[in-house]
Amino acid sequence: MMTCVIAHAEPAPPPHPMEDCGLEPPGSPAWGPVPGRPHELSLRAAPPLIRRVAPLPAAEIPNAQQIPWGRSGEGFLAGKTVYLSPGHGFTFGTYGWRTQRGTTNGIVEDLVSAEAVQQYLARYLRQAGARVVSVREPDMNDNLVIVDDADRGAGYAESGPAGRFSDSTVAGWGRQAGPLTGQQNPFTLGKNRLLQAAARPDASATFTPTLPAAGEYNVYVSYSQFERRAPDAHFVVRHPGGEAHFRLDQRRHGGTWILLGRFYFDKGASPERGAVVVWNDSGTPDANISLDAVRFGGGMGLTDRGKGVSGRPRWEESARYAAQYNGAPPTVFDQADLDDHGDDVGTRSRFAAWDHEEGEDAVYLAWHTNAPNPGVGTSSYVYGPNPPDGSYNFTGTPGSDVMMKLVHDEIVGDLRRGWDPNWRDRGKYSAYFGEVNPRHNPETPAALIEVAFHDTPGDAQQLKQARFRQIVARAMYQGIAKFFAGKDGKKVALLPEPPASVCGRGVAPGEVLLTITPPEPGPAGLLGDPPAAYRVYRSRDGLSFDEGTDVAAQSAALTGLPPGETVYVRVAAVNAGGESLPSPLLAVRTRRDGKRAQVLLIAGYDRLDGGLLVSQDLGAWALGTVGRMLLDRMNDASYLAAHARALAALDVSFDACTRGAAAGPAGPGGIEGYALIDWQAGQSSQTPLALTPEDRAALSEHLRRGGRLLLSGSEVFWALGEKGDREARAFLAGLGVRLQQDDAGTRDVDAAAAGPFLGLPAFALDDGTRGGYRVQTPDVLQAESGAQVVLSYKGGRGGAAVAAPAERPAVFSLGFPLEAVYDEPVRIEIVRRVLAALRVAADGQETVPPDPELDDTTMMKMEGCSCEVGAGRPAGSRATGGTALGLLLLCLWRAQRKGKRRPPSSSA
Ligand SMILES: [Zn+2]
Repeated sequence: MMTCVIAHAEPAPPPHPMEDCGLEPPGSPAWGPVPGRPHELSLRAAPPLIRRVAPLPAAEIPNAQQIPWGRSGEGFLAGKTVYLSPGHGFTFGTYGWRTQRGTTNGIVEDLVSAEAVQQYLARYLRQAGARVVSVREPDMNDNLVIVDDADRGAGYAESGPAGRFSDSTVAGWGRQAGPLTGQQNPFTLGKNRLLQAAARPDASATFTPTLPAAGEYNVYVSYSQFERRAPDAHFVVRHPGGEAHFRLDQRRHGGTWILLGRFYFDKGASPERGAVVVWNDSGTPDANISLDAVRFGGGMGLTDRGKGVSGRPRWEESARYAAQYNGAPPTVFDQADLDDHGDDVGTRSRFAAWDHEEGEDAVYLAWHTNAPNPGVGTSSYVYGPNPPDGSYNFTGTPGSDVMMKLVHDEIVGDLRRGWDPNWRDRGKYSAYFGEVNPRHNPETPAALIEVAFHDTPGDAQQLKQARFRQIVARAMYQGIAKFFAGKDGKKVALLPEPPASVCGRGVAPGEVLLTITPPEPGPAGLLGDPPAAYRVYRSRDGLSFDEGTDVAAQSAALTGLPPGETVYVRVAAVNAGGESLPSPLLAVRTRRDGKRAQVLLIAGYDRLDGGLLVSQDLGAWALGTVGRMLLDRMNDASYLAAHARALAALDVSFDACTRGAAAGPAGPGGIEGYALIDWQAGQSSQTPLALTPEDRAALSEHLRRGGRLLLSGSEVFWALGEKGDREARAFLAGLGVRLQQDDAGTRDVDAAAAGPFLGLPAFALDDGTRGGYRVQTPDVLQAESGAQVVLSYKGGRGGAAVAAPAERPAVFSLGFPLEAVYDEPVRIEIVRRVLAALRVAADGQETVPPDPELDDTTMMKMEGCSCEVGAGRPAGSRATGGTALGLLLLCLWRAQRKGKRRPPSSSA
């Protein structure tokens, strides 16, 4: 059975040597034992290293934090450590910096594995409470700033009685001049300060970075470990949304970077809104606290192996360099007889063994993909003295076999239940992979998973799907949870799925009622356990969130909000297993006068398939064009914020629902009573259908009752007009729109020369470099008879927006996502014009009365009204079913035009 291409004997190695998947056949160079840590503690049952805790009662907690990341050390896996290996990565060799695998089917194993592990697998495990240690850099942020205790007056500050502070005699992190070279250990280049603990906080140190850009940053801290250090050192992350408090056991895991969490920060320096503060309060007042350094972000490659740095983000580099960067001694990552490729194989598991301290309950799991074509399916490995030849002779660290079986069966089972019923189970084997070799890591169970074959087109097609990687990641996490449950003799508790839908509606000035629909149970064995409660995260800017408030019921009131201010909300489900991934972002703004909002926002962009991968030219690294799964540039479910900001700027209040709430179990009533529905379709296309029949029915009913609609998206019109059935096309016709073409071939929209957008300047749509996602194929729209094209793509490439009916419109259709108009003043102006044309007034202004015709339900029955709808429909055809709306709009328009306006009660 072939698992990896072995090409040691090739005379001229290719740019990406496919030498092995990290095999260590008999006769491989010996590394020697993994060194212990100085002052390593032996604990019988180690408590969690880090706990995220409630702030001190006295502390001020402003309202809000970011992409809520769950609470460390809370959940079924609290106290457990999971070492994750995202496999290979950029490594220095004869040809310079190269990935260890080449591009096959448009993807690269080195990058696929890291993308999946950092964005899904690590996330699931953290949400379940585990301490997760990636052997490669986990932060995908290219920026990096470190503040050291030596940066006095330049980012580092002490306050409180001077007698509380002293110099430590042991080494600490120090800034090296230039890139990291040779066997340099940055954690021996400097010193660290000591802060004397006290029962009450009376002294603190503040680390304030100057951040080069706004964004989400991992926050890491370092300290020197010692028996006399505080077991509950009090670390506070200050960010725009408030404060996150942590208690950290400084008796362990010193001299390396310890991840506290991930937070959004603004650009620049702010001790109040962008800093880490260490207080000296402790339950062990005679202990001291080490103050060494704080790191924000992952950064770019910093290691020079003779010909300069890699030019790639550090998270794409291999474990060899991460281990050195993280303070491991050279015997962990550098074997004299091996080059960097050889070093990397042993480094992954050696780093885990080095980091792991006695008494800590931990496992090690590696995510790989497989070759060569035509292999298919998932295979898993533990250590054995054999090559990967399809045999099983387990001689690895005890427990590895049990964990591997649980993880493997969970992956294959979940893929069959949730992805492809015929997913291939390639089997469970042993092999002498270095990553699972007990001579590197005799301390934790270890397994290596070959998820699928990147070399085989069919499997590669699956690997390109974010949902596929997510299912595999969740299965890996569930398998690990089941392993620990079995080991501890406990019943497993799995973290829940996110809520099926969430609605937020203003019910009084400053009061929002949240309605939460629980997740569907799904096929047996696939999803998480049911929720026990929900955690509501609030934000003032949609970027930075608070610590979350738990609510037991599916309906919860948020009170005390400033009326007229937008509150952004994400909701997660929680249970004994942990915390789910959060819901899409919602935004609600309550009216100062307590009246109901006139506008309802629908978060309707839920697509996340392989077609959204970010294309990168990695030709400089001999990889060509590669599809990258970078979720925040594909769909991070945050885009409703751009709609909310525009409306808020115009003093228009709004409620918001995720798409399922509009037409789901709650029925069309979910959108009843609003003057305007702003439906954000993003790039949703046919899978899942951008607008389901239920969505369309709800919107038709809304329009029939005299409501107005703003529908924007770059695929929704294509999905309905090209891929949709007769009813879908009729619905489109009812909106006064016909699809002319799937792709405008441009992201530039012309200035309008007439119509409601007269005077609007030309503008461009996001190409993926403007903070959102890349608009791939803007829809080209035509106006049905009676409607009007109101915006056009540049260069005569056709209609970009349609208003219908042309006079006194009820519907605006934008062939591009509104949020993709990255120039905020232009987006606000678009919304202002749409509101004016649709006669939706700002808060506090007189509400423009809707057209009497549109409010007259008697007339809405359209009995006997007959007129043409679109091209190809015979004159005189009757209004039935889904075509009724189209007929309605067109008939109304014609009635107006011919001056045959009926009095509201004429046919009553
Ligand atoms: Zn591999």
